[in-house]
Amino acid sequence: MSRSDPDVTPSSPERLALARGVHRIALPTPMVASVNCWLIVDRPLTLVDAGLNWGGALDALELELRRLGFALEQIDLLVLTHQHVDHTGLAETLLARSGADLAVHARLAAWLDALPDSLLADDDLIAARLGAHGAPAAVVAAYVARMEMMRMLGSRPRPSVVLGEGETLALRDRSLRVSLRPGHSPTDTVLTDAAGGLAFTGDHLMPGARTTPYLDPDAGSDRDAGSDRGGAGWEADLAPARALRASLGRTAATPPGVLGLPGHGDGFADVGAAAREALASQQRRALRLLDRFDATPLTAWELTTRAYPRLTPSRAFLGLLEVLAQLSVLLDEGLVEAVASGGRPRFRRAQARAGRVSRSAA
Ligand SMILES: [Zn+2]
Repeated sequence: MSRSDPDVTPSSPERLALARGVHRIALPTPMVASVNCWLIVDRPLTLVDAGLNWGGALDALELELRRLGFALEQIDLLVLTHQHVDHTGLAETLLARSGADLAVHARLAAWLDALPDSLLADDDLIAARLGAHGAPAAVVAAYVARMEMMRMLGSRPRPSVVLGEGETLALRDRSLRVSLRPGHSPTDTVLTDAAGGLAFTGDHLMPGARTTPYLDPDAGSDRDAGSDRGGAGWEADLAPARALRASLGRTAATPPGVLGLPGHGDGFADVGAAAREALASQQRRALRLLDRFDATPLTAWELTTRAYPRLTPSRAFLGLLEVLAQLSVLLDEGLVEAVASGGRPRFRRAQARAGRVSRSAA
């Protein structure tokens, strides 16, 4: 099916978005949940995001556009929320078929210009860091195989409109303010129509699915300089999670009542409240990770197998990235510390704090 069942209550976010001329088109993918394109019925006729570059997604997009009274060739403008292939893959075909403009944030334009090297660098980095954090070879191999398949479903679209930070993309009936909100990827962009009470949040904020901070080759210039606490550059692996929290903090300041239209899953009622809940939820998950520690310093991979024992090899990397995000919270709060041990970064409950707690309890 090209479209998930819309919530039928009159005040549901999807209904409210529809009333404002925005249609959700959920495109199928072979390996992850469906990905959303959002059709903005305006001048120019605008699509936010494109799915993966495969026939199933293209067929679904064409069928749904036709059901709504449009043809693919009528799309005038495509805007992309971030660099991931499940959002950019169909862009090249879409531009070729429609002659549409492609508008992206300047940071995403630079990343697209550097394809395919930029995508290979992302995938190589994660494969290397999975190993550095103790993931077994089979897990690294499963990640590499998955990313080779994802790259086959990508494309190399050329932006024709480069948007600056804070710039406004003006359509006839609405204006979209362009804000970088990095963390899930370095190029996450939120497009906010404040007057219309809508925001396209991409994968930065999607209450129906967890936002994973992917590792970024450009994060933490000290990656190659090494670290004195067990393993070269592991601190840089926490930078995307920290960036995501800072970005959610900025999104939390969105005025009340702005509808969120995410990259995956259903629309949601209030962007600011959802950002605050995403931060609180990460805090709760991080505190639960504390229960997985014992007396021995543990690698991030060992923590992953304790926290998510049923993960399949092909999805294990998501568990490890999530554990790194939780570790960033616990390290920043002084609840966990890193130790040099066996050439890998390892983590344990903070000893000083444990001592203070036991003394004050005595
Ligand atoms: Zn996505």
